[in-house]
This record gives sequence, structure tokens and C-alpha cells, in this order.
Amino acid sequence: MQHFNIAIDGPAGAGKSTIAKMAAERLGFIYVDTGAMYRGMALYFLRQGISPSDEEAIKQACSQVEITIRYENGVQQIYLNGENVSSLIRREEVGNMASATSVYPAVREKLVELQRQLAAQANVIMDGRDIGTCVLPHAQVKIFLTASVQERAKRRYLELKAKGEKADLQEIRRQIEERDDRDTHRENSPLVQAEDAVYLDTSSLDIQQAAGRVLAIAAEKGIELPS
Ligand code: C5P
Repeated sequence: MQHFNIAIDGPAGAGKSTIAKMAAERLGFIYVDTGAMYRGMALYFLRQGISPSDEEAIKQACSQVEITIRYENGVQQIYLNGENVSSLIRREEVGNMASATSVYPAVREKLVELQRQLAAQANVIMDGRDIGTCVLPHAQVKIFLTASVQERAKRRYLELKAKGEKADLQEIRRQIEERDDRDTHRENSPLVQAEDAVYLDTSSLDIQQAAGRVLAIAAEKGIELPS
């Protein structure tokens, strides 16, 4: 049976995961967060003390890493060599390591394979950087979801503040720009809008409105809400 695949790509902090999760719930689709997989690998490299610039060590480490995905109460959980690391991968340090190490083909090949398997088994909304261009080029719906750098930095700042963490807006903005630059200029699977993707700027939309737009785009392609 052919499953429906919705690919959502875009830069860090555009709201992809929150919006995709909400749309997946409404559609009864499975939400696949591919960034979490890169973060799971990154956590392993950090724990091993591997430098992000040491490609050879990273390549070797890849053969020792097993990333698996499970769904518990509908929520994606990431396992690293059998350990549930879902709550450990959200730290900035892990995100930065994921961004630095996702440039290597050895890292990407391993995870792309897992992502394709998931999409072949179920109706999915998958988000990342290269889903529409590389992982699922035949996805029925592709969306390039973005927001201005200023807006993305502000959202991240408020998120950290709400958690009671220290946050510096200028520093967050600098990190977002650095990550955007690396994700869009890397040689392997850079972040670019697929030719057949719909461009969606969420700068002036709230989460509900943005999820509504995703559902409307999906409906145009024949994916309807379950009755
Ligand atoms: O989306 P998230 O911030 O969790 O992703 C962490 C990092 O993983 C990104 O900065 C990006 O470099 C990398 N990534 C990727 N391809 C994907 C998803 C994430 O290269 N499909």
C-alpha cells in the first residue's frame, strides 16, 4: 500500500516540529522528527569526546551507533544503543554538535535509510532539512517552512525564558545565523527549498494558524482530515 508522506523542511527555530506535530495529530499521521536522530548521534559523539572536525573518528563511531525510534503514547522517543535519550538531546550543545556532524556522509547515510523505512511503513509527516529534496523526493506534499531570523531568535529566547533558563537574544540570533549558514552551505544535502515545495513563512502566524495552513496545503493534494 502506498502511504502518504508529507515533507517539511526549513531552518532551525521556524516552528517545524510544533506545527508538524499538531498537523500530524489532526490527520492521524505519525510525526517523524529527523533532527532528533542527528541529535542522538551527536550525543554519542559528545560522550565519546570526539571532535566534530575529526571526520575519520566520526565515520568509525557511526558503525557503533544504533539509533532507533519508538512511539510511546504517540510521542516519538529516540533510543541510542538501547537507551532512551529523548530528554537529553534538547541541549544547545547537542544541537550545535548535530549541526556540525550532520555534514558528513557517513552520518547522513545511516539516518536517511532509517527515515525512508519509517516513511514506507506509515502515513508520516517528517520534518528536517533535506526531506523533500533527498529523503522523500516523491512525497505527495512538500512544504518549506521558515520565519525571519529575528522572529526565530525571539521565539527561542522566550522558550528558554519560560523554562527559567538564562538567555541572551543577541547570542541566540548569532547561533541561529551560524547554524543556518552551515545547513545551507554544506556540500551534502544542504537546506534548500525543493522545486515542488510550497513556501510557508510563519513570521506573522501563530502555531494554530501555521498548522491550519499545512492542513490546507495537504487538502489541496487530496489528504483530508479523518471524519
Ligand atoms: O531540527 P534540529 O535543530 O533538531 O536539527 C539539529 C541539526 O541536525 C540541524 O542543525 C541540522 O544540521 C541537522 N539536520 C540535518 N538534516 C535533517 C535534520 C536535521 O542535517 N533532516
